[in-house]
Amino acid sequence: MVEITFLGTSSMFPTRQRNHAAMLLRREGDYLLFDCGEGTQRQLRIAGISPYKIDHIFITHWHGDHSLGIGGIIQSLSASRREHDLKILGPEVKRRVGHITETYVFHKTYNVVCKDIDVPDPAVVEETRDWTVRAINVRHGPKCLAYSFEETGTRKINVDYMAKFGLKQHPILGRLQRGEDIVWKGKVIKAEDATFIKAGKKIVYITDTEFDRALVGFSEGADLLVCEATYGEDKKHMAEERTHFTASDAATLASKAGVKKLILTHFSQRYPSVKPLVEEAKSIFKNTTAAEDFMVVKV
Ligand SMILES: [Zn+2]
Ligand SMILES: [Zn+2]
Repeated sequence: MVEITFLGTSSMFPTRQRNHAAMLLRREGDYLLFDCGEGTQRQLRIAGISPYKIDHIFITHWHGDHSLGIGGIIQSLSASRREHDLKILGPEVKRRVGHITETYVFHKTYNVVCKDIDVPDPAVVEETRDWTVRAINVRHGPKCLAYSFEETGTRKINVDYMAKFGLKQHPILGRLQRGEDIVWKGKVIKAEDATFIKAGKKIVYITDTEFDRALVGFSEGADLLVCEATYGEDKKHMAEERTHFTASDAATLASKAGVKKLILTHFSQRYPSVKPLVEEAKSIFKNTTAAEDFMVVKV
């Protein structure tokens, strides 16, 4: 299971209810932070999540509402005497995080490992045995990326197929599950016939950008699409001028990509209530909700 905690859901100006952008994705012991706006470390504290557990921070771009919190987290982790590496990934990370660590005065107790993402689209930018993160370039002012998190699929036994061999529960099935062929009562049973791959969960995070057809393929079949809806169609001109999605853009993408669920985020302070944005999106893609700070979603 993958668990998402929204730590910030505003765009440029934080409001009383909404902090700058940040989203924590948790899968078993792995904690991945996507964006790190100002005050993210305090949001983590309120949410009861230790920043100590975060090993990866993925930055979409270097507008402050997505990245002003990085200095604070880096410093606090030293104050709590972290010793293991923290990896920060995104565009121009080495140079910019280098400036941050040089600017503030503190004793660093661990390594900040920076990985610049500058790849042809879309590409795998980080992977473990259990999951893969892909990135795609999106069209915003500065260089900006969208991310997709995909769990590794798991190999399952095809019970009907195995019934032909009268083989139900046996330690030898473990070998098939590892993708190895086996011999059973003189017959070869191939893993490719006797097993199938159950796909893992896919979560896509898109902010900030204008509409781009490439995002449809990138988001295809996602279990959850988290997508900016900075404006509604009433402010379409502002969305175009500032290269942002409207709620309708987000819903159109969700619909074209055949995702299961859409959660809107990164709202302009012009919408004290985001209900109209949700309604606008719902008329195009029904399974839409709005993110709120500290909302937790299980996927
Ligand atoms: Zn933004
Ligand atoms: Zn931006």
